[in-house]
Amino acid sequence: MEVVMREPGLKAQLFRFVDVLPALDGAHSVTDHLRQYVGPVRGKLPRLINGVLNYLPEDGWVGERFAEVTRWGVGRLARQFIAATDMRGVFAAVEKLRRKRLAFTLDLVGEAVLSEAEASAYQQRYLELIAQLCDRGVDWKTDPLIDHDHHGPLAKVNLSLKLSSLYSQFDPIDPAGTSAAVRERLRPIFRLAKARGALVNLDMEQYAFKNVTLRIFREILEEEEFCDWRDVGVVVQAYLRDSERDLWELSEWAVGRGSPVWVRLVKGAYWDYETTIAQQNDWPAPVFTSKPQSDANFERLTDFLLDHHDVLRPAIASHNVRSIAHALAAARVRNLPTGSVEFQMLYGMADEIHPALVEMGQRVRIYTPMGELLPGMAYLVRRLLENTSNESFLRAGFLEHAPEEQLLMNPMELIERDTVASARKLAGTLPAPDGFVNEPLSDFSRESARAAMHQALEQVARQLGETYPLVIGGKRVQTGGRIESINPSHCRQIVGSSGRAGVDQARAAVEIAKEAFAGWRVTPAQHRAAILSRCAEIMRRRRFELAAWEVYETGKQWREADADVAEAIDYCEYYGREMIRLSKPIRRDVAGEQNEYFYIPRGVAVTIAPWNFPLAILCGMTSAALAAGNTVVMKPAEQSPVIAAKLMEVFEQAGMPAGVVNYLPGVGEEIGPALVGHPDVEIIAFTGSRAVGLEIQRQAAQTPAGQDHVKRVITEMGGKNAIIVDESADLDEAVHGVVASAFGYAGQKCSACSRSIVLASIHDSFLARLVEVTKSVRIGPAEDPAAMVGPVIDQEARDRILRAIEKGKGEADLAYAADLGSLANEGWYIGAHIFSGMRPTASIAQEEIFGPVLAVMRASDLGEAIGIANGTPYALTGGIYSRSPANVERVRREMRVGNLYINRKITGALVDRQPFGGFKLSGIGSKAGGPDYLLQFLIPKTVTENTLRRGFAPEMSAVDAGAAGE
Ligand code: NAD
Repeated sequence: MEVVMREPGLKAQLFRFVDVLPALDGAHSVTDHLRQYVGPVRGKLPRLINGVLNYLPEDGWVGERFAEVTRWGVGRLARQFIAATDMRGVFAAVEKLRRKRLAFTLDLVGEAVLSEAEASAYQQRYLELIAQLCDRGVDWKTDPLIDHDHHGPLAKVNLSLKLSSLYSQFDPIDPAGTSAAVRERLRPIFRLAKARGALVNLDMEQYAFKNVTLRIFREILEEEEFCDWRDVGVVVQAYLRDSERDLWELSEWAVGRGSPVWVRLVKGAYWDYETTIAQQNDWPAPVFTSKPQSDANFERLTDFLLDHHDVLRPAIASHNVRSIAHALAAARVRNLPTGSVEFQMLYGMADEIHPALVEMGQRVRIYTPMGELLPGMAYLVRRLLENTSNESFLRAGFLEHAPEEQLLMNPMELIERDTVASARKLAGTLPAPDGFVNEPLSDFSRESARAAMHQALEQVARQLGETYPLVIGGKRVQTGGRIESINPSHCRQIVGSSGRAGVDQARAAVEIAKEAFAGWRVTPAQHRAAILSRCAEIMRRRRFELAAWEVYETGKQWREADADVAEAIDYCEYYGREMIRLSKPIRRDVAGEQNEYFYIPRGVAVTIAPWNFPLAILCGMTSAALAAGNTVVMKPAEQSPVIAAKLMEVFEQAGMPAGVVNYLPGVGEEIGPALVGHPDVEIIAFTGSRAVGLEIQRQAAQTPAGQDHVKRVITEMGGKNAIIVDESADLDEAVHGVVASAFGYAGQKCSACSRSIVLASIHDSFLARLVEVTKSVRIGPAEDPAAMVGPVIDQEARDRILRAIEKGKGEADLAYAADLGSLANEGWYIGAHIFSGMRPTASIAQEEIFGPVLAVMRASDLGEAIGIANGTPYALTGGIYSRSPANVERVRREMRVGNLYINRKITGALVDRQPFGGFKLSGIGSKAGGPDYLLQFLIPKTVTENTLRRGFAPEMSAVDAGAAGE
């Protein structure tokens, strides 16, 4: 530990190794991974260890002994923090604590609970734990120091519990549903604890779960059965900016309830996680950015708790002697009886402090985790980080022996100094050079975002059924036929109807766009970008309304719809900036010769879009064309003309001149050929299926009479994307990532995972867990925030997917098929399907199905897995779950995909951060939202001027001055 504290690089590598170790099978794998992890930081290791590593054989007797010793070492490390694996060990551990006059609260460290079966098993284990501890506790001699306070006897058996372990679909987007489901499982636990005189404390996890945890706490304790129960508590994390308000609300509520509850005040253990998530999403950090701010807040909240100790019984959980001393002094100032404040510490930490407090007659409770090493790994790594953190009191106090004045300093004095340091640490995100920032996604764990979405859904519901004519040259054009847009979640509900363009209107639209080109092409790039920025601004204002339209028209879940609107905003901002960048001519002058390289627009673009990202893709292709100075005929998909009409409204509101963009809803087969074949069309930007994309390529290659150019065709097509899972993968994360990638939006994303290629040694356990987890995924209408899988887009899609499933049954084993229940007649639903045991060449493993259907395949080694992954005509997205640096590196090199994701889901690319697009038969390879995209919409031009006149050439500096003036 001392070595890793001195060497942060080594610390990261060693902790990563500790994290993967329990998943490794066999001596060879242990040695191999250790070498991979410490390889890059070898120089930092003590010489002896380095020498051992150099000569260590991977196999044979020595290798095996080494692996054993390594496991034993990490096991010992874990045992320092995790008290026991079984009940016998638990009894021994807590009885030993009691002999030292220390109370305990027992925590069952759990794997991430991903399925309902796991949640239910977790509940059972808790119930058994309570029963067994209470049986055993009968024999424990009462110790007044820990079993009594001034109110009377205290529960000897005290447990801590994480609510997310009781419900696999725990999600703050649906607080009411989450609360109901969690309370269902929590009630028997509370009932038993109450009957047996045990105390249950609800732990706090990440910030996103905080409000729903507090809500569940209050709701269950208001139920008649528990409304006067006092042996129950909750945690407040002082590093959260909200914590003071939460505590205040809790005290008001407890007064109303009429019975006190316990509050454990902690600083909070997820600081790195919270700040990283906030930075990634561009959300305000929920935590204080500096440690002294949290310390100061901890003292403020301690004061608050002591002032309200009759309703919120204080448990001060800290290893920081200053925080503890402050609580003692604050209690003394208030003349509170000894024991009215409880101190809590973690098992295996700050062992030097307990006896001192016990000697002072204080009650100390030890938070005592039990469980196996593998599920306990997340807990162990958190403790290791805490012990070795630069800001750890334990490290400063007990390892580095910092002076007392520093250790006990008032945090207020440190705040200023540390705020500067932390601000520097937080600046880890590199801003894009041109100031582009992704539009933050809505945080639906916040009440304000949920309320806005509910309101938008209600408002939009009142506008369903309207009609949307074509818009050509700024004029509304009525058509004989209509396209009716239907809500896939409720197939009897009409969302609206649009005009249905015919061939004549298609031609008219191209002609109008051609006329408008004359003015738009000479509009400065800055001005075009400014209009696009206004579009972004309008979409920001109409954000929830547009998302609500997507929910109804394309069956998108809240988060998916919200992300689609954010992406559309990004495209407008990004392409505008990109064009400003590209509009600066490149000069390569020599004496007597001026050379200029610059871009000019091409002409009329036709954008043909799919329905699955109904706003983002249409807006992306269109705004790129517009930014580049081309004019556009927008042809949305038949299934999503209403959202496209809303986009047209946005363009008009932003001041796009008439005819520069035209809205042409229509049936692809009817007007597609007329648009694609039109001699005045210069660019076709298409996103959709492979069959249509290739047909468009073929048609556009013709040069009919009257056409004076070769068309530029941009096609983004389908995928058959694979995620590889190797034996070192974190199985929880792999299963979670595969489920999210395969079944999110019912698998209707070009980036969706439709193949999972798993190494043989873990194939069966992976598949079993995957099936369990998929069983727990909720299917339902898109407007219901609790549903992860909604409907597929239409009847035709459903029939096609069902046919693929039938065919799959002939070539593979159906490992799971979800039951739809009563939904079957309500909309176009298809439950998740998982197939296994197919040949890699089977159609279920080769053809894009575009629905919630996943093929799981077995590979004997990584080479074979990569071979299978690359063995389709597509190359769009792909991923790997692995904790082997060598495997990750190999996949980076060898997996042929446009977007590769490592240890995360493979959907959800962001503009600029993850430019998106595939190659082979997935597309032409230039990426949407990336630095090369606009070039496809432009023609590069070189102008060379001879500036020599009768032997006289202007000086180079004069030429430069001219260039600078442009
Ligand atoms: P689709 O090919 O059926 O339709 C796409 C668009 O093409 C629609 O607007 C449609 O009206 C139009 N169209 C149909 N026939 C036409 C013709 N003959 N001429 C001109 N246009 C015609 O695709 P879809 O069902 O809307 O979308 C799903 C497909 O899109 C999937 O294959 C998916 O992988 C792909 N997709 C790819 C990307 C990507 O970036 N690579 C993104 C989203 C979707």
